[in-house]
Amino acid sequence: MSAAPSSAGQLPGGPSLPQERRLVTAVPGPKSQELQARKLAAVAAGVGTTLPVYITRAGGGVVEDVDGNSLIDFGAGIAVTNVGNSAKAVVERAAAQLAAFTHTCFMVTPYEGYVAVAEQLNELTPGDHEKRSALFNSGAEAVENAVKIARAYTKRTAVVVFDHGYHGRTNLTMGMTAKNMPYKHGFGPFAPEVYRVPVAYPYRWLTGAENAAADAAAQAIDMINKQIGAENVAAIVIEPILGEGGFIEPAKGFLPAIVEFAKANGIVFVADEIQTGFCRTGQWFACEDEGIVPDLITTAKGIAGGLPLAAVTGRAEIMDAAHAGGLGGTYGGNPVACAAALGSIETMKELDLNAKAQAIGATMLPRLRAMQEKFDIIGDVRGRGAMIAVELVKPGSKDPNPEATAALAKACHAEGLLVLTAGTYGNVLRFLPPLVMPEHLLAEGLDILETAFAGL
Ligand SMILES: *Cc1c(COP(=O)(O)O)cnc(C)c1O
Repeated sequence: MSAAPSSAGQLPGGPSLPQERRLVTAVPGPKSQELQARKLAAVAAGVGTTLPVYITRAGGGVVEDVDGNSLIDFGAGIAVTNVGNSAKAVVERAAAQLAAFTHTCFMVTPYEGYVAVAEQLNELTPGDHEKRSALFNSGAEAVENAVKIARAYTKRTAVVVFDHGYHGRTNLTMGMTAKNMPYKHGFGPFAPEVYRVPVAYPYRWLTGAENAAADAAAQAIDMINKQIGAENVAAIVIEPILGEGGFIEPAKGFLPAIVEFAKANGIVFVADEIQTGFCRTGQWFACEDEGIVPDLITTAKGIAGGLPLAAVTGRAEIMDAAHAGGLGGTYGGNPVACAAALGSIETMKELDLNAKAQAIGATMLPRLRAMQEKFDIIGDVRGRGAMIAVELVKPGSKDPNPEATAALAKACHAEGLLVLTAGTYGNVLRFLPPLVMPEHLLAEGLDILETAFAGL
């Protein structure tokens, strides 16, 4: 993997952003602390902040703050800026669209960008059957609409989701999300007809990883048959790699078994690829890994290089089941966001970001596995492409170690490496670098992480 071409990470003709880690104050520095004090006085307490450094510029593999610090970014705004924070094609196309017109509402008077994004999605998503797409603003909105569409098509109501799943923060998607704190606590009641079944979590499957796929699929299917009735199920919704749940890759064979069951019972199989999509795992979509062709696929995050856009894409006969006027929204498929998405997809193809994601995984996994040999709190190292995680445990056990996870994240932040945590037990460090991350910054970030483990 070579260093990111400057065109991918920097504003065209704008100030060049040095691809380096640079600490000139403590993290957060005095100006960030001042802004954080204003934030606490002005912004609702429920909107949290992982690392309160206030950003002025970002691109390639770094974010630069108001104090002049430059941090290595292993978070990509939660798997959003796969092409970098200021990819040339994204900025140019979005800026041109911004100057032409900002909005008309696609449901009132349409424009080409929306149609072009739908065409791209129909082409890039798995399967060569006839497809349709509909565009929205956020991932949660896409998931809600996938459920609406599946219910309209099947004329059934039940929705099946999985342990450790995450699908958003709106009422329906909160109910579909597994974890209570912080996502659901105190915010109920939740929408009815949502049912949760086991997922094949290899590291924590009680009878061993080798039994996880068959056991979990059998249990999930038995629960659906006995507790819900397959004939009542409109949709089965799953992330091909569970993101917020801790980058859990279901044991091989689990997803195909669920897909087969869905097909045999007339259930719409929905892959929630909001975090895994758009080259993140080294493929356009993570379900390609086991050759899965979902009936519907939800996308957001990485789709538009940082602008808010989301989509549901799938089989034409299912997508077209909702009546005219039944889907949409004032801003859904905003023209500036669509232009950004076309620039983002163009960048992914041009820079072959699937290959870049694979190269990032090929660098990270061996280094993290070597750390696992040295540090007994690393219970598991896993992931695909540039979606990589370590699960931390108490030494000599599999007991989750959220304290060490928080301490490590803090130590990395102090050294100018932005990392995120995840996991049902809060004990997973997750790494989601922009796919244009320069090689030397990836290596430096891993050095910082290793030093943090050694210093724990
Ligand atoms: C982030 C995420 C969502 C929700 O997306 P928002 O844009 O935050 O509403 C849904 N599903 C998955 C898998 C996600 O990672």
